Amino acid sequence: MTEWTEPAADDPFGLHNLPLCATRDGWVGVRAGELILNLGAAEEAGLLDAGGAFTRAGTLNRFLATGRPTWTRVREQLTDLFTGLSTGTAGAPHRAAVEAMLHPVAGTALALPFEVADYVDFYSSEEHAKNLSRLFRPDSPSLLPNWKSLPIGYHGRAGTVVVSGTDVPRPHGQRKAPDEERPSFGPSRRLDIEAELGFVVGAPSTGPVGVDDFRAHVYGAVLVNDWSARDIQAWEYQPLGPFLGKSFATSVSPWVVSLDALEPARAAAPVQDPPVLDYLREAERYSYDIRFEVFWNGTLVSRPPYAGIYWTPAQQLAHLTANGAWARTGDLYASGTISGATPEETGSFIERTWNGAHPVRLDDGSTRSFLEDGDTVTISAAARCAGGPADGTMIGFGEVRGTVVTRV
Ligand code: MN
Repeated sequence: MTEWTEPAADDPFGLHNLPLCATRDGWVGVRAGELILNLGAAEEAGLLDAGGAFTRAGTLNRFLATGRPTWTRVREQLTDLFTGLSTGTAGAPHRAAVEAMLHPVAGTALALPFEVADYVDFYSSEEHAKNLSRLFRPDSPSLLPNWKSLPIGYHGRAGTVVVSGTDVPRPHGQRKAPDEERPSFGPSRRLDIEAELGFVVGAPSTGPVGVDDFRAHVYGAVLVNDWSARDIQAWEYQPLGPFLGKSFATSVSPWVVSLDALEPARAAAPVQDPPVLDYLREAERYSYDIRFEVFWNGTLVSRPPYAGIYWTPAQQLAHLTANGAWARTGDLYASGTISGATPEETGSFIERTWNGAHPVRLDDGSTRSFLEDGDTVTISAAARCAGGPADGTMIGFGEVRGTVVTRV
């Protein structure tokens, strides 16, 4: 039996967060401090009511599909349950029953938290778009004419979304450097990362989702590493967009942080100029103050800031369904690489090293421009609450980690 201990008020995984997960043992849970409550067991015991969505569930999909009234009710039930445990109002026998359902975070193997339906990746950081344009198309204007008119994106590969900790075999493909006469096939020589925030659709739609209906459909967010083979990408992406340079693997963090938890971390989104079309115009426009850190073999190399993203997740969902496409439970759509104004705030290594012109020095004395086999990348993030009683408190996302291995 695991003894309940109340997480500290400033714990990034304190009771203001309550992120959800799925385990390799086939049950779903909620994190409180360093413990995970088995939600299926708790529901079967009558400690909470998600309409059966947690009972014998191996992923979060059934709960995601229930929609916002149930999400809100369950969050309140969980808060009451944990608060009751801490204050003792739940009673001693009750406490023993709950403790039988608690598992330490350390030692619990986590799985992909939800079955991914469709995966879309956007391109919504203005600094990143400008940097990539300079690197890929040095002779063209820094932003293409459509960039400030619509959130640019592409459909990725849902079947290769993997949970943090999964090794990433180096992709093979066609590549042709500018100084090479002919393309060749082989392992990528310019393997990179993209630090992103991914949004998880819960309640489905049978048509367009209005820009102000974002919170009715989206449950929460995860961290995303959109691994990218720049040499394969550069040779294939014109005229139809990213394909095999991206689809070999996309890593996500195991914790799904709810939009409810992120509410106190709302931040102003950039003013859009020129004004957007009506279907993208928000009654209330906001982003989230989420601060990322990127570690290369343990060395902190960048701190990308999410708050300044040009296209908000509400606009992204409105745009991706504007043609009549349905939103489905388990849809994952990512922000696009998050980059700030300085090299130390960029969310990819091609930007951080300026295509290898400025390699980074790691703590072990080695230098890097692109990923080598055996390299581990860890992206972590936390949202910062502003104002109110939670002012300054962090909401943890944990991390998304992956190691590049030689493909056999
Ligand atoms: Mn990306």
